[in-house]
Amino acid sequence: MRLLIMGPPGAGKGTQAKFIAEHFKIPAISTGDIFRANVSQGTPLGIEAKRYMDQGEYVPDEVTNLMVRNRIDDPDAVSGFLLDGYPRTQAQVDELDGMIAFTGHRLDAVVVLTADRDEIVTRLLQRAEVEGRADDTEDVIRRRQEVYAEETEPLIEIYRDRGILIEVDGMGEVSEVTQRIFEALDGLPES
Ligand code: AMP
Repeated sequence: MRLLIMGPPGAGKGTQAKFIAEHFKIPAISTGDIFRANVSQGTPLGIEAKRYMDQGEYVPDEVTNLMVRNRIDDPDAVSGFLLDGYPRTQAQVDELDGMIAFTGHRLDAVVVLTADRDEIVTRLLQRAEVEGRADDTEDVIRRRQEVYAEETEPLIEIYRDRGILIEVDGMGEVSEVTQRIFEALDGLPES
């Protein structure tokens, strides 16, 4: 199973990604989490990524693409994966297509969590208090929403055109959203 989860920052992608990954016994690969781990370990990748993350901007495609390429080459991702937060640009969509085609597989589905913008800004501000993420200040939250709307939201149409898009209402209880996702995904043929 090769899946993507998309949606605006704060829509609950990370939370749902963990449940989906467990359900299908595939790793959930979050580019944001990998960047954050590198930032906290002070690696050269982390130092580079932090400059962008702190501003709410995207890390350059070359850096992000190489990181994902290395990660999905890991043994645990050979039979499938769920990507959370990637691809976010057209160049990343193209790169991912190449990576998957190279293995002779295809993308099975793209889950998009839809969410109300005011509601998610509130959620992100709450998360900022709990987790203390450096990119959860109000200005950066707003910038991240803008960058998503400009660069990533239009990419959803690519997957709609391919007939693999699954749109799920991301509002409501976490367990309700998980249920909606499972219902949509369980009927998919295994590739
Ligand atoms: P996230 O946790 O997915 O919201 O990601 C946090 C931050 O990491 C983003 O605001 C970006 O700065 C960076 N990031 C994560 N994924 C990507 C990506 N696919 N392309 C570029 N930057 C990314």
